[in-house]
Amino acid sequence: QAKQMARPRWQRFTPSMQQTLHRKLTLKQHLTKAISRQELSLRYQPQIDVSKGCLIGYEVLLRWHNPELGHVSPAEFIPLAEEMGLIREIGNWVLATALSQIALWQEQWHQRVPISVNLSGFQLTPCLPEEVEVQLTKYGVDAALLTLELTETVLMLDMQGSIDILDALSERQIKIAIDDFGTGYSSLAYLNRLPINTIKLDRSFVVGLNLSVIRATAAMATNLGLDIMAEGVEEPHELAALLAQGCHRFQGYLFSTPLTAEEVTLSGFKVVSPVGCFGLPLVIND
Ligand code: C2E
Ligand code: MG
Ligand code: MG
Ligand code: MG
Repeated sequence: QAKQMARPRWQRFTPSMQQTLHRKLTLKQHLTKAISRQELSLRYQPQIDVSKGCLIGYEVLLRWHNPELGHVSPAEFIPLAEEMGLIREIGNWVLATALSQIALWQEQWHQRVPISVNLSGFQLTPCLPEEVEVQLTKYGVDAALLTLELTETVLMLDMQGSIDILDALSERQIKIAIDDFGTGYSSLAYLNRLPINTIKLDRSFVVGLNLSVIRATAAMATNLGLDIMAEGVEEPHELAALLAQGCHRFQGYLFSTPLTAEEVTLSGFKVVSPVGCFGLPLVIND
């Protein structure tokens, strides 16, 4: 026992830990200047409703290309931006850039394009609904074209606070999707109290084809009157299994990778579906 107590409680600072720390510091230094140096850009990934045979909108995904670091994944830099207190500035840039793109598609191509924008938990503040409304008005975009994606973990941190903010958003016709659904601790009780429109089933359940989770989630969504969308669908057999469980909305490489705004325009707001290989045009049902 004495031996155990004498064991040092610190961990050795290994070369790999040093590398991780160095990478974080380098990323943080470059991240502060990413907006002003115009290193950020957006991609738009098509979302499909197979039962309706149409494309229903696009998820907006952030990209960072730094001359020195190359491409850095948002999965790596978003948490750093959160740590640094930079995420609200970045989040505002994402929303403003996406809305100005929608306004452009509206004016030049006469297309009303629905988009889904990811929000960090740090953006979920009481002033969010007002701020989003100001941006929508500024760019002349209909609130009904906007969905905001939040994770269940973020929503559950402060349940009453979340309810108030989401209520204020839905009063303004802005829609809410729960992202990465199934990876946190969701319960029917809390879902029922939030004005949610869509549940996005996490890719991990799609890849593993966890049929019981897929079936239960699809049944719950139906009972609550919510749409369910599966993310990260890559294989035709995944699509078939999801359809069999009652899921009709999809996002994934099987249909399309995230596209640049130019690619979306060139595609004529269509995707070619692997299901039957017909062009699925953009159809807006509000
Ligand atoms: P997410 O919101 O769950 O986004 C889905 C991710 O899955 C995206 O990765 C997308 O490119 C990827 N994906 C789509 N289809 C497939 C597929 O068929 N197979 C595979 N393997 N992956 C697929 P991405 O763009 O790297 O984004 C990662 C995460 O970063 C996002 O996860 C989201 O949480 C966060 N993120 C991205 N953009 C933003 C943003 O503007 N703001 C905030 N706060 N977070 C963002
Ligand atoms: Mg998302
Ligand atoms: Mg997701
Ligand atoms: Mg995800």
